[in-house]
Amino acid sequence: MLFRELNRDKCKTYLLACEQTRKALLIDPLKESVGRYVAVLAYYACHLEYVIDTHTHADHHTGAWDLRDLVGARVAMHQRAPAPHIDVHVEDGQQIAVGGVHLRVLHTPGHTPDSISLYTGDRVFTGDTLLIHGTGRADFAGGDPGAQYDSIMGKLLTLPDDTLVFPAHDYRGHTHTTVADEKAHNPRLAGHSRAAYVELMNNLGLPLPEKIQEALQANLSAIEDGSVHFPSLSKLSEVRQLTPQEVQARLAGAAPPLLLDVREPEEFSGELGHIHGSIPVPLKELPERAAEFTDAKQRDVIVVCRAGVRSTTAAALLTGLGFEHVANLRGGMLDWNAAQLPVER
Ligand code: FE
Repeated sequence: MLFRELNRDKCKTYLLACEQTRKALLIDPLKESVGRYVAVLAYYACHLEYVIDTHTHADHHTGAWDLRDLVGARVAMHQRAPAPHIDVHVEDGQQIAVGGVHLRVLHTPGHTPDSISLYTGDRVFTGDTLLIHGTGRADFAGGDPGAQYDSIMGKLLTLPDDTLVFPAHDYRGHTHTTVADEKAHNPRLAGHSRAAYVELMNNLGLPLPEKIQEALQANLSAIEDGSVHFPSLSKLSEVRQLTPQEVQARLAGAAPPLLLDVREPEEFSGELGHIHGSIPVPLKELPERAAEFTDAKQRDVIVVCRAGVRSTTAAALLTGLGFEHVANLRGGMLDWNAAQLPVER
């Protein structure tokens, strides 16, 4: 296997390729370095089959969609990833193969709900779930320190002791570690109970990442052209969240809400289907098309997407435009389907 880390900086991008077939994959590419990656792939005479983001990043713009456009790579992320234009949604235990290189997907939520790790047999790419003598923060974007502890202790640190660990970030100049080393010396984990870990992670008091608004919202919506002025985190946190059952009850009520589905057209008619009576308005078009719905400014409006994340952005935008009663379908069509509520395709 050809293996390189391509950034030589705090953010890590890994190239893995099969030496026989020259088929390659990139893990966590940066948008700003896409030209460099294409050049490296050409230098090694490799064909990029897959781009895998280990999670929705908050600190840099993903290079996934540019690589998809430029060289036809397929973008793979976990089922829970909120963004559109993902070619392959993966689940725990799934295999990804490029030539003779085989990766097993481990769903390792906690840093984000869509965090995955990728295990090759001698090494594991841990995203921001497990870092070198650290762990990724779990205090925004759906982070859950308890889930993160379970992912690390139950999945990552049960891999063989000599497994090499390659994280998505390192801030101290290290390149990798091992499962044995992290078990013995990770200061956040060694000797800590789950409760102690949760307590520690809930009290880190870290400032939010510098580029969080522009990077996180661009990455979760695939909108990078400035067509949407993203709402602030505090506006997002004010959006009223409804369970699928609550949404269904309102739809069956005397004054049913206006239902706006902000996914892309291919998702609206795709595998998750859509809710009867919902109107497709892709998030990108919402600011200019909101005027079509001014009649509903005093009515109940419920916004829907894949995972309930893009639609939270949409709900905050609509509230900012004067819509008075906007709510969001929490967990989106993923949770709607999981609740076995009816869909149309
Ligand atoms: Fe991250």
